[in-house]
Amino acid sequence: MDKAIISLSFDDGREDNYRLFKKFTIPHNIPVTLNVATAYVDGSMPAESWPTKKGPMTKEQVIELSGCSSIELALHGDAHDNTEPDVRAGRDKLASWIGSPEDGKWGFASPYSKLPVEDFVSPDAPPFFKNDILYMRTGLKKEPLTQLQEICRKTCKVLPLPIFYHTTYGYAFMQECPDRVIYSFPVFNALSFTYVKGIIDTAIRYKGAVTLMFHSIEPDSASVDEWSWDSDKFRKLCAYLVRMQKRNKLDIATTRDLYNKIKTD
Ligand SMILES: [Zn+2]
Repeated sequence: MDKAIISLSFDDGREDNYRLFKKFTIPHNIPVTLNVATAYVDGSMPAESWPTKKGPMTKEQVIELSGCSSIELALHGDAHDNTEPDVRAGRDKLASWIGSPEDGKWGFASPYSKLPVEDFVSPDAPPFFKNDILYMRTGLKKEPLTQLQEICRKTCKVLPLPIFYHTTYGYAFMQECPDRVIYSFPVFNALSFTYVKGIIDTAIRYKGAVTLMFHSIEPDSASVDEWSWDSDKFRKLCAYLVRMQKRNKLDIATTRDLYNKIKTD
């Protein structure tokens, strides 16, 4: 790795994401990955089962976005579930809407990050997971932190220095990916711009590949759900990423391109 790679990954297929991409990321040529829960988007999932109270973009909008070279469309279950039949149903639908990727393999963002890594990498994993999924994006590891990591985790919030992030979440500043699992930082509305900028600075410092997980991007994100982030913070973050990219400190990439750079088979 000669520099950091940053990928921006968006979950569900929410209607605000369509507007964000059309008005902001596409015109600024910022690559993004959109993970589509197909039953949420095509209306076959009842509203009470939606992953958020926010409504979805339409199937036609997903198809339109698939024509854009800076957007990767990836799987997120059909009914926002992690079972093999549901993920496969999501793949079948998305493939019928937009066609399959050239290599026939799909990125997959685990809904709620609930598919255990062990189940995905296990030799007994369903053949579909092994043969048709290029990578699985999940959240941060769920195992408990050491006492030192716990101190560093708290310190990041007041003193956003790379050493503290790296001590706490070193594995998420990825150098290689032997098991097709991409860890990601969930960006929820309590996180400040400064905190997220600290993640980027750590990726630059350690030349790591980092994925940020987003949901809705709205002016009043707290009114949407706790996983959403304010649009002014997001724009500021993108301006910083573009500035650092121009200075050759990092590349902004889709999660697929990030994975292909660090995969080790
Ligand atoms: Zn989701």
